[in-house]
Amino acid sequence: MLTVALTGGIGSGKSQTATLFAALGVPIVDLDVIAHQLTAPNKPLVAQIAASFGEAYVAADGALDRNKMRQLVFDHADARTQLNAILHPAIHDEAIKQLHSHKSMPYAILVIPLLDKSSVYNAMIDSVLVIDCEEATQINRVKQRNNWDEKQIKKIIDAQMPRQARLAMADDVIKNNGNINVLRQKVNELHQKYIKTCILRKTIP
Ligand code: ADP
Repeated sequence: MLTVALTGGIGSGKSQTATLFAALGVPIVDLDVIAHQLTAPNKPLVAQIAASFGEAYVAADGALDRNKMRQLVFDHADARTQLNAILHPAIHDEAIKQLHSHKSMPYAILVIPLLDKSSVYNAMIDSVLVIDCEEATQINRVKQRNNWDEKQIKKIIDAQMPRQARLAMADDVIKNNGNINVLRQKVNELHQKYIKTCILRKTIP
C-alpha cells in the first residue's frame, strides 16, 4: 500500500480534501482526528495530562480542554514539549495501527498537519501532497469555521512552517483557492494518478 501524506497550513483545506478522497473510497488516517479521539472524555491520556498539568485542563465533560491547552502551549515551549511527550507516541501507535488495517487497499491518505523534515512519519510515507492557499483565504476560512479573531489566526499561521518551506517538501500540490467543485476535480485527478502509481508499482518489480 502506498501512503500519501496530506499536509498544509491551518485552514488550507486539509480536512475538506481528505473528505473528498474518502468519498472516493480512499482510507483516511488523520493525526488530528486521532488526537481528538485519544483526548475524548475520560480517555486514559486525559488523566495523564491532568496529572502533568492539573485538573484545570480537563473540561466539564471529562475531555481535554483544548482551548485552554492551546493557549498554554502556544506561549510556553516547555509545556508544548511536555504535552507532545504524552500525546505523540500514542498518536503514532494508533496511526500505525489504522494504516495497517488498510493494508489491502491500493493507497491511504495520512493527514499530518505539521509535517516537517524531522517528522517520524517521513519513514512511512511514499509521497507528500501539500494543500496550499493564499493566507487571506486561510484567515477567512478559520474565522468562519472557528469564530476566532484574525490576530489569533495570524499568530498560529506565523508559528507554523513557512508556506515556501512546506511547498518545497511537496510531490504534489493542490492550490485550494477556488470552490469545492474545483477542489473535487483536483482530488479526482490526483486519485487517478495515485491509483496508476500503485498499479505501476505492482507490475514493475
Ligand atoms: P484544515 O483542515 O486545513 O484546517 P479545513 O479543511 O477544515 O482546513 O477547511 C477550513 C474551512 O474552509 C472549512 O470550513 C472548510 O469546509 C472550508 N473550505 C476548505 N476548502 C474549501 C473550498 N475549496 N471551498 C469552500 N470552502 C472550503
